[in-house]
Amino acid sequence: MALSSRFRPFLRPVFRVSLRAQPRRALHLAPPWLLDDYVPRYHLISSIDAAKKRSLAYAHLRECNLCPRLCGVNRYEKTGVCLIGAEKVKVNTIAPHFGEEPCLQGHNGSGSVFFSGCNLRCVFCQNHDIAHQRNGFDLTPEELAEWYMKLQEVGRCHNINLVTPEHVVPQVVLSILHARELGLRLPIVYNTSAFDSLESLELLDGLVDIYLPDFKVWSNATSKRLLKADNYAATAMESIKAMHAQVGDLCFTGDGIAKKGVLVRHLVMPGKEDEGKEIVRWLAENVSKDMMVHIMEQYFPRAHVGKPRRGGKDAEVVEPGGVPAAEGAKVRYADINRPVDLKEVASVTQAAREAGLWRFVEAPKHGGFNI
Ligand code: SF4
Repeated sequence: MALSSRFRPFLRPVFRVSLRAQPRRALHLAPPWLLDDYVPRYHLISSIDAAKKRSLAYAHLRECNLCPRLCGVNRYEKTGVCLIGAEKVKVNTIAPHFGEEPCLQGHNGSGSVFFSGCNLRCVFCQNHDIAHQRNGFDLTPEELAEWYMKLQEVGRCHNINLVTPEHVVPQVVLSILHARELGLRLPIVYNTSAFDSLESLELLDGLVDIYLPDFKVWSNATSKRLLKADNYAATAMESIKAMHAQVGDLCFTGDGIAKKGVLVRHLVMPGKEDEGKEIVRWLAENVSKDMMVHIMEQYFPRAHVGKPRRGGKDAEVVEPGGVPAAEGAKVRYADINRPVDLKEVASVTQAAREAGLWRFVEAPKHGGFNI
């Protein structure tokens, strides 16, 4: 409808003023991954599907094959490789965490829950005291849900970040379903080694918003020797594909906080940059060139790496798994007993760019958000 000419003189100056007062904001937002608003996925599933997930979670605990260890134990009666039972999980720390990617920690921190125990046995574990030593306190799924509420209400965190949860997926499922009844509104981050099974990812479908998998090593010899796991890479590939099928590439709201999607981490290891290159090429060719990737440089020798060799000064060094160490080695895992070289990190990043990946967790070069 045309405006009456008597209003035009009044409208024009107002329009000009509003343009001057609100200049276009240069946020460098990429529309396909920009969300106007976000409702966590666990609020979108029906009460019938929620009930099915609850009963499936209990069934898995009675015969646990929820990770590739396939223990098949009734966790109400005995424990498997992960050493964690059915009714309670062991938690080391619950707190707002400021050591995560900027898009997860934001200004208030990522609401992190560090579970004790793990289904891998990485000899270089960077969280050795938590993952290998079962320190911490026991919580039921309901108590865990109440902690999520504290992270939301008191910590004002941006998300609930479940760190090393692969071995407690049924309890995590029950806790999320309970927390949605309590009024949780934060996205759920599943922060995993990627040594998951398709069954546990199916159980999590509809409850997790952000998958944050590591992709650690490529060759089976390396995974056997350093992770104490067979077929790690094959499992990680299958898991990351399933995660991406559920939630897609990483999406943000306009405040630069990630809300949904997959972010893959790769910790570059000394002397293993060729494995890193295989990993990033596989991601680009088989999952998505728009995958958000964090190529990490903070490897440092920890856990069993660099410890004195077993069996006395002159004994032959035989590492767990029966693998002989390099000739002349004085300490265990001498080949990875040093920080990673930044040139090694740069070569993996370059291989990722050449393969077509372009969304990296790194300092933005344009002064805006890196999304
Ligand atoms: S979650 Fe624990 S008990 Fe279940 S299969 Fe894995 S290691 Fe075994």
